[in-house]
Amino acid sequence: MATDFDLLVIGGGSGGLAHAQRAAEYGVKAAVVESGPLGGTCVNVGCVPKKIMWYSAHHAYQMKHAKDFGFDVSVNSHDWADLKKKRDAYIQRLNGIYESNLDRRDVTYLQGHASFIDDRTVAVGDTQYTAGRFVIATGGYPTVPDIPGAELGITSDGFFELEELPRRVALAGSGYISVELAGVFNALGAETTVLFRRDGVLRTFDSMLRKGVEDAMRKDGITLEKGVVPASLKKTDSGIRLIAEDGREFGEYDAVVWAIGRAPNTDTLNAEAAGVELDARGFIPTDDWQKTNVEHIFALGDVTGREALTPVAIAAGRRLADRLYNGMTDRRLEYHTIPTVVFTHPPIGTVGLTEEAARALHAEKVKVYETRFNPMMYAFSEHKTETAMKLVVTGDDEKIIGCHIIGDGVDEMLQGFAVAIRMGATKAQFDDTVAIHPTSSEELVTMR
Ligand code: FAD
Ligand code: NDP
Repeated sequence: MATDFDLLVIGGGSGGLAHAQRAAEYGVKAAVVESGPLGGTCVNVGCVPKKIMWYSAHHAYQMKHAKDFGFDVSVNSHDWADLKKKRDAYIQRLNGIYESNLDRRDVTYLQGHASFIDDRTVAVGDTQYTAGRFVIATGGYPTVPDIPGAELGITSDGFFELEELPRRVALAGSGYISVELAGVFNALGAETTVLFRRDGVLRTFDSMLRKGVEDAMRKDGITLEKGVVPASLKKTDSGIRLIAEDGREFGEYDAVVWAIGRAPNTDTLNAEAAGVELDARGFIPTDDWQKTNVEHIFALGDVTGREALTPVAIAAGRRLADRLYNGMTDRRLEYHTIPTVVFTHPPIGTVGLTEEAARALHAEKVKVYETRFNPMMYAFSEHKTETAMKLVVTGDDEKIIGCHIIGDGVDEMLQGFAVAIRMGATKAQFDDTVAIHPTSSEELVTMR
């Protein structure tokens, strides 16, 4: 049967664009449907504007040490509004680049919201399109709790709309977004509180990282409140109060940010018309080959509920195209040993198993090498920030199965080590690598 396209991708974010463009390079007649700005979450309300804000916060930290190294500096103020203007303009330029990338590869760009009519047809506004294959890459959105007054808070999307720095901020949640945005607010001068419902932040991370980041946050003046299950938000004359289930009240705040996770964009996709199954939370389950339960419909990226990271969505998208359209029959993304960085101050880098998970899996065969030190950057400083590193190894050959690092520069340090670990490096091979001196990263090849 003749179709309008060989491939129709729903969602022009990290994964959808990567897949459509790679497929088009192999000669596939492809279209991308996008209801918002091109680039998706990462470019518009995620990694990119977040990293710009992180850099701004990073400069605040660097300036604290300028005096120690001979500079006579005084910082008078920070212009949040001006930074936002530049950030927005930068992102608009990126949106344009993404559009011309599609154009260059002859990928049809359909602006609008897509919903399935049946398993071969999608409606975009009043027009219907047919395709041989479909890829769902619709990402997700930040969730807001179903409690009274929740609308008084904002989400990470709202963070990027702020025209000025709120003076007093609370972040509810304990994941990546909560700790990253808390670091930005705090460094740029807001009184910052993080409220989380259990006993700590980043609960799935290695215990050394969790302790390290909590210590650093407290030392920098961020208030951490544990065991807080939000029950309501209340507006008062002087701000917003957060009331917990146990009756405790927190605030007032000028802004409350919900950072309690994200839900998949499947509510208005009408996936059921195509026979595509969703799980109880609306995510689309996929097999090892990104296939849904429908033979010619695939899903990738955040909407699948797997690791919600941009490079994961991109890798899944490109590899699927390599397999379907370039004869690479075994090509797929294996969802393990995925490196990730949390852009806190200092940042966290982690790949592989935590010590806790490794011990649960390999019991007594696990050995841990750990080090902590003050980097030379703080040689003259009153405000020292410790670096901590841990290698988790297993077996007689001490294969490295986990690497966890927190400290200045680890965000740029991890990628290379992740390659080695992915290749199955052992502790002896790390030790056999000549160190680069004087750096912090050399500690990873000199641990005893
Ligand atoms: P998305 O990028 O979300 O793209 C989905 C697109 O589909 C959207 O543009 C949406 O408008 C569109 N869409 C949805 N439904 C429809 C429909 N029915 N019709 C048409 N279009 C539709 N990851 C990192 O790796 N590093 C980071 O530093 C990082 N920082 C982040 C910071 C924040 C604040 C957030 C929120 C996320 C961050 N992430 C980061 C995660 C990263 O942004 C996501 O994992 C990534 O964007 C997922 O890509 P995706 O293609 O699955 O979905
Ligand atoms: P996360 O899933 O990282 O964390 C949200 C946390 O909030 C949960 O783990 C949970 O922790 C807590 N929570 C959940 N529901 C509630 C509730 N009702 N009340 C209070 N707390 C609650 O979500 P984020 O929104 O921070 O980020 C989404 C994803 O985006 C991340 O998982 C990551 O994959 C990606 N991301 C990546 C970044 C990077 O690469 N640097 C940066 C930002 C986002 P607990 O169970 O401990 O209470």
